Amino acid sequence: METVEQVASLVSQWVRPEIRELVAYHVPEAHGLIKLDAMENPYGLPETLRQQWLEELHQAPLNRYPQPDAPRVKQALRASFQVPESAEILLGNGSDELIQMIAMTLAGGEGSILSVEPSFVMYQMIARFVGMPYHGVALNEDFTLDIEALLLAIREHRPAVVFLAYPNNPTGNLFAEEDLLRVIEAAPGLVVVDEAYAPFTDASLLDRVGSYPNLLVMRTLSKMGLAGLRLGLLAGPAGWIEEIGKTRLPYNINVLTQVSVSFALEHIEVFEQQTRAIRRDRESLAKALAQLPGIRVYPSEANFILVRCPAGSASALHGSMRESGILVKNLDGSHPALVDCLRLTVGSPAENKALLESLQKLL
Ligand SMILES: *Cc1c(COP(=O)(O)O)cnc(C)c1O
Repeated sequence: METVEQVASLVSQWVRPEIRELVAYHVPEAHGLIKLDAMENPYGLPETLRQQWLEELHQAPLNRYPQPDAPRVKQALRASFQVPESAEILLGNGSDELIQMIAMTLAGGEGSILSVEPSFVMYQMIARFVGMPYHGVALNEDFTLDIEALLLAIREHRPAVVFLAYPNNPTGNLFAEEDLLRVIEAAPGLVVVDEAYAPFTDASLLDRVGSYPNLLVMRTLSKMGLAGLRLGLLAGPAGWIEEIGKTRLPYNINVLTQVSVSFALEHIEVFEQQTRAIRRDRESLAKALAQLPGIRVYPSEANFILVRCPAGSASALHGSMRESGILVKNLDGSHPALVDCLRLTVGSPAENKALLESLQKLL
């Protein structure tokens, strides 16, 4: 007993209050449930490809450190995503790690991190990890950018970096491109456009990388169908990529990921077919959700749909859905603008049907 108290006392002596006050990112138990909470692609690799993939893994030299800058993976990504010639690429263990590297590179000076709210929570969490001030600018009620408020906040705080998710998570919408360009032009430091949901929209600023000295574009393979591999990519001018790359731990992309990503990108048409199907199914799911009594559906360009439930019912609906075997994300209580909101990942047609039937029964 005494040692528990001693540990607690040492922790409060040595761990920064910002860390002690944090609640660790919580991943709910999903065993046996239809998993529609985390924007995963419901389709795996087809069986024929699975065998070929296993053969490639078979050759992977597990006793050796991975290639530190994964040249084969970078080359394949450059070709598959049409990264501009002039841009350099940095790889992360998921784009989460890239956000962390960007923050570590900029921390310690005067600079802050600025984003909009509600948006991806890691921007704010990572600011805390590295001890940078964070500023969140509220979105409009319909989740569009409040561009005047955003430009004002940029003038006032002069952030070292602005993070904007395009499309935005957890709202699903795209911000107006002309507004993003105004932000890039007005920002005194970096602007990172986080395109995690690029497979589900036609919009992208990737081809603008190199046209601005302060624009970086981030992508990930997670939402496309490879969340388990953990691979993110940051594209930008060489000068920035070199500096941010100094905070990368030498072997951050492991051997199995390097082999698997190279293999997957040789068969990218399989993933493109899957993401096209998800995009199509998103439209029919949105239409069907809009028919449900009391449900407001927000427009989505991602592989999830944000809905607002009848006042006061979201948490109970979330719990009852879980009891009926379906896990979605409850956003009620996470931010004032998300009161009564659930975020529903678009799954396979059968999963979407189960989701709709469950909601229909409960409403
Ligand atoms: C899911 C998500 C990420 C994280 O992607 P990983 O590559 O899996 O770390 C980054 N940004 C946004 C906006 C996301 O929704």
